[in-house]
Amino acid sequence: MKKLLLLFFLVGSYHSAFSWGKNGHRIVAAICELYMSKEAKEEMVKIMGPDYLAELANWPDYIKSEKGWKMADSWHYTTVHVGQSTQEVRNYYGKDEDINDALEAMDLMIDILRDDPVAIEWLEDKMEKNKAKPLRGSIKATALAFLTHIVADVHQPLHVGKNKDRGGNNITVLYFDERSNLHAVWDSKIIDQEQLSYTEFTHFINKTAPEMIREIQSASIDEWCNESILLREDIYNNIYNYTDRETGLPSFKWDYQHDYIPKVKDRLLKGGLRLAGLLNEILG
Ligand SMILES: [Zn+2]
Repeated sequence: MKKLLLLFFLVGSYHSAFSWGKNGHRIVAAICELYMSKEAKEEMVKIMGPDYLAELANWPDYIKSEKGWKMADSWHYTTVHVGQSTQEVRNYYGKDEDINDALEAMDLMIDILRDDPVAIEWLEDKMEKNKAKPLRGSIKATALAFLTHIVADVHQPLHVGKNKDRGGNNITVLYFDERSNLHAVWDSKIIDQEQLSYTEFTHFINKTAPEMIREIQSASIDEWCNESILLREDIYNNIYNYTDRETGLPSFKWDYQHDYIPKVKDRLLKGGLRLAGLLNEILG
């Protein structure tokens, strides 16, 4: 029983710190809006109302506390082991009709935004069964908020995780002398340390040469994940280069911040540009 409870606690708490922080999601959405076509923006307003995408980008995290939306907890990440391919993960999860991870969830949301009746019916059924309320009473607004959120999440390298340490949630680290964990550092602490608002942050990173934009946007969803895996492995390989003598724990301070803030900025920027590319294609 005790073991069961512990297991429940571990599984239940898996997602508590499991997402880019609020500003990370807003930054990706704000970058996206800068690169959306007029047509796609008009369609977005029809779906969402006149709100900014950045305001609704965190909605999939807010609803985690709602019982009806428990089914969406696993939509924020995927698990790809070292040596495994995203296609193998797709094959594995594709065996049942459920939406099990971020890859399947993104495909579903894209299909819904493309008016695919099967996808729409699937999510409407699930929501009805679980008494989960759609965003603004609209299945398309729901899908758009989820897609905006999940595209950002899979650009966070520890959201394409290894499951043994729960995407780094189980790895205790010190961040500027405070106890934290590797996942939380990557979700929000590196971003928050910069002390910028999300609009300032967006302004600072929005410096892509026009000829690069198309190249960044041409990558497939599986390539986004593969980039995240490469960065993830780099993070794991280097974690003990920053060890605190007394505690033996990885201890991240300015050196870590300087080493990795360019990567964090790169992931946020790419997430935003790619979301714009996707929405221009679907809605434009
Ligand atoms: Zn998330």
